[in-house]
Amino acid sequence: MIGSDISPAVDHLRAGELVAIPTETVYGLAANALNDEAVLQIFEAKNRPHFDPLIVHIGQRQLPMFEEYIHDEARTLMNTFWPGPLTVIIDKPPFIPDIVCSGLTTVGLRMPDHPLTQELLSEIDFPLAAPSANPFTYVSPTTAQHVEDQLGDKVSYILDGGPAKVGIESTIMRSDQGGIKVLRLGGLSLDELRKVEPNIELEINSNANPRAPGQLDRHYATQTPLLLVDDVEEAVKGSDLAKTAVIGMKLPELKGVNLKLDLSENGDVSEAARNLFAALRLADSEGIEKIICQKAPETGLGPAINDRLRRAAFR
Ligand code: AMP
Ligand code: MG
Repeated sequence: MIGSDISPAVDHLRAGELVAIPTETVYGLAANALNDEAVLQIFEAKNRPHFDPLIVHIGQRQLPMFEEYIHDEARTLMNTFWPGPLTVIIDKPPFIPDIVCSGLTTVGLRMPDHPLTQELLSEIDFPLAAPSANPFTYVSPTTAQHVEDQLGDKVSYILDGGPAKVGIESTIMRSDQGGIKVLRLGGLSLDELRKVEPNIELEINSNANPRAPGQLDRHYATQTPLLLVDDVEEAVKGSDLAKTAVIGMKLPELKGVNLKLDLSENGDVSEAARNLFAALRLADSEGIEKIICQKAPETGLGPAINDRLRRAAFR
């Protein structure tokens, strides 16, 4: 059931059931992070392998539980960017079940910036484990309807908070003796992060990287084959235009192309990020045999968009 009333969401979560929650990044599939039976259902509903750890979502009410595990660098980042699209990896407190972290000694923590979910978190006394509310490796959901379409029969309630305002997943950071590292590009841009931490290094995960729980080469993927290109005009040549969808920003005219989805007509990368996953879902429809995506410029959220598109294109 979809609704915008938090009280059924609170009741279902307290009963150890799954509830889809709105956040500024994408919709999450949430369960009580302290209840391993409840968390297990997340993996089952998504068909997600157990080696892929979940992010723990908290509000001000849950923050004190984690205080003693948060060191200074992590605290600076949290103070600056929370609530917001930043996940910080910290040492795992013993009260977080191993299943949440896939057996790692660390846990990813985030305070989402969405009024309904913040209200929800203020009503419960436990944190929420929540990955994106989509089947494993598919495109993440940015509306309640996206969740209903794919996981409607697996969740007790979908809390509808409107379309996600950032539209791509959180940026994930870790800080340890080796410095501060970005593990996943996401909704908080490197430009913003570097204003606070100029010495940030990238350590973006892939299957080839053994320190890579979950950041799979193939991810965010449509069923329809997807091609990532620099020049869409060149790429559509030789395609069956009636069966081709094109996604990009400030797209040229492209006569004859069946489905043209412009993520931002005036080239605003944040707007493009917000529209990206809905466009991928729309393009992944009957009659389309090829999705051609134009690379985003490497500014602002552009690198995070391109990271998603590269993984979506990976075969
Ligand atoms: P999502 O499915 O978008 O919620 O993202 C979860 C992702 O966060 C996982 O696939 C990992 O890449 C990352 N993650 C979560 N917890 C950890 C952790 N303790 N250490 C490293 N990465 C993590
Ligand atoms: Mg996901």
